[in-house]
Amino acid sequence: MSQSGPNTFRNSLMDSQEFTITYELVPGRGSGGKRLEKILQLAENAKADGRIKAFSITDNPGGHPALSPTSLGLDIQAMGVSPLLHFSLKDKNRNMAESQLFECHRHDLLNLLVLGGDFPRYGFRGQAMPVFDLDSTQLLSLIERLRHNFTVKKGAPGQAMGLPVMDFFAGCVVSPFKILESEQVWQYIKLLTKIQCGAQFIISQLGFDMIKYEELILLTRDQNISIPVMANVFVPSLAVARVMNTGRVPGVILPDTLLQQMEAEAENKDKGEEARLLRAAKMIAALREMGYAGIHLGGNNLDFDSISFLLDQAEHFAGSGLAKEVHFPDPSTWYLHNDCSEKPKKYSMPILFSSNNLIHEQIFNESGLLFPIARTVSLKTLDNTFLTKLYTYFEHLIKKFLFHCRMCGDCTLSESSYLCPQSGCPKRMVNGPCGGSINGYCEVYPKEKLCFWVRSYHRGPKPDCNTIQAIKPIPPKDWALNRTSSWLNYYSGKDHCRLKGKGRKTNG
Ligand code: SF4
Repeated sequence: MSQSGPNTFRNSLMDSQEFTITYELVPGRGSGGKRLEKILQLAENAKADGRIKAFSITDNPGGHPALSPTSLGLDIQAMGVSPLLHFSLKDKNRNMAESQLFECHRHDLLNLLVLGGDFPRYGFRGQAMPVFDLDSTQLLSLIERLRHNFTVKKGAPGQAMGLPVMDFFAGCVVSPFKILESEQVWQYIKLLTKIQCGAQFIISQLGFDMIKYEELILLTRDQNISIPVMANVFVPSLAVARVMNTGRVPGVILPDTLLQQMEAEAENKDKGEEARLLRAAKMIAALREMGYAGIHLGGNNLDFDSISFLLDQAEHFAGSGLAKEVHFPDPSTWYLHNDCSEKPKKYSMPILFSSNNLIHEQIFNESGLLFPIARTVSLKTLDNTFLTKLYTYFEHLIKKFLFHCRMCGDCTLSESSYLCPQSGCPKRMVNGPCGGSINGYCEVYPKEKLCFWVRSYHRGPKPDCNTIQAIKPIPPKDWALNRTSSWLNYYSGKDHCRLKGKGRKTNG
């Protein structure tokens, strides 16, 4: 087990008198080389400077393979600085996730930033298989259990064994920078749900709209959220800004006005280098005034001299009220103080929600007229293998036609306005969206397919955007039920409704 010093990140972030600064490192592909040497040199310089309290380390960013954050995390830890490991779920199933949590704990790598992750785009001889076995709410729940008391279930390997308490410090991400009401309301619902599942700190998505940054802080105050919130400040080069402006980076909005300003700055002798650093410094000063507990800094082509200059300037600008000077909104952005009156971009067919819900309530709700007979017939069917097969085939036929059903065996249709997340969302998100949508479109099919959760928002009864609340998260899917009848699983108490207790009786 490795020996590490004090957790500088946790200590700083939990001290309300401190303004915590972290810096994001992006390990590349391969186990060494110039890129890694440069990263380690930057970390050495930062350590000597002392203002950066943690290095956050990305986990296969952009869905590309890279050196694991654990490996670089150990190097950083050996220098005496706290690593903050990104822990994404795009390419590990729940068992691998648990195994890596054990590894992190064994090496005292306790600071984790839990995220779903970008959809895999590349891999050895073809695109990698997207996993997304758990979502971020479900992983946070697992970590929460490990932080307190995790007793292995009877019948499982190592049964009835209590695991040692693992004192992780796990945070989550939220984007306040969504363009549409439907995307934004869902982001905030999911944030509250992640906190309910055990998130201990929040880091925002990167953005350039200062009113949106403020909106997030105000929301956390309104909701009496006491965990610290950090703002993500990214310093893009002109080349990266151009890419971000096209909407090709999942979840990132870089408005035309900022790009135009950067194009003009590129005419300067230094190609706009100082201007981009000063802009970030002013942002940091303004975010500190808003009440953020710290900043999560990142950028491309930044050496430590640039970072040091930027941080000096942020101190210099402290209290100068510069938010307006660095405010770059997208003109079509919806804000939380606006009316909740978004019209769907495409047909939404709320009639399908009403008709499905009417039938569903009669058959699957315990107070429904058809519930007793449906339940009795279903349970009788289970006694006969042939009838069970016939019943399953019948269910598949109906649900494939109506909902593009994939027969996952644990149906969540009624929790997403009778749209199927298994076939409708590339990441199969069951507890609200990921952070990758842009202007309502899915990160995997930009400008082509609407995000599944945007469609769900418009089809079913809308959540009240003035009183945003957490949802009761759906637990991880039991893959033993795959290709079996979800109706039989429901009536025989095998699906997630049973797992969630008495409150959730509706499912089909
Ligand atoms: S449909 Fe929405 S939630 Fe699913 S991957 Fe696309 S953007 Fe994310």
